[in-house]
Amino acid sequence: MRGIMIDLPTQIKIGAIQWHIHKDSRALQYEGLKGETLYQARTIRIDDEIPIPLQQETVLHETLHALCVPLTEDIQLSETQVRYFAAALMQVFMDNPKLRDFLFQEDDNG
Ligand SMILES: [Zn+2]
Repeated sequence: MRGIMIDLPTQIKIGAIQWHIHKDSRALQYEGLKGETLYQARTIRIDDEIPIPLQQETVLHETLHALCVPLTEDIQLSETQVRYFAAALMQVFMDNPKLRDFLFQEDDNG
C-alpha cells in the first residue's frame, strides 16, 4: 500500500521554463543530499526513498531554487532562506487543507 495517491510529476513548468524531475536515490544518498537542482540541465533530482513528507518538502525546496534562476542577484534567496520557506510553506499548507484547497482550486469561470 502506498502513502500517497498522486505521483511526483516528471516535468514541471517553473516560470517559462520546463524542468525535469528525476528520482535518483542512490546518487543523492551517496552525496548526502535529499534533492538537488541542476540548473544547466533544468533538472531537479529527488531521493524517492526518503519519507513522503520529506520528499514533498524537498520538491518545494528545489522548486524555490529553480524559481530563483531568472532573478537578479539582489533578490536571490540564500540556502537558509530556501530551507526556511520550503519548510514553513509546507507546514502552512499541511496544517490548513481548506486554505490549500482555496488557493489551488481551478476557476470554473476562468
Ligand atoms: Zn537547497
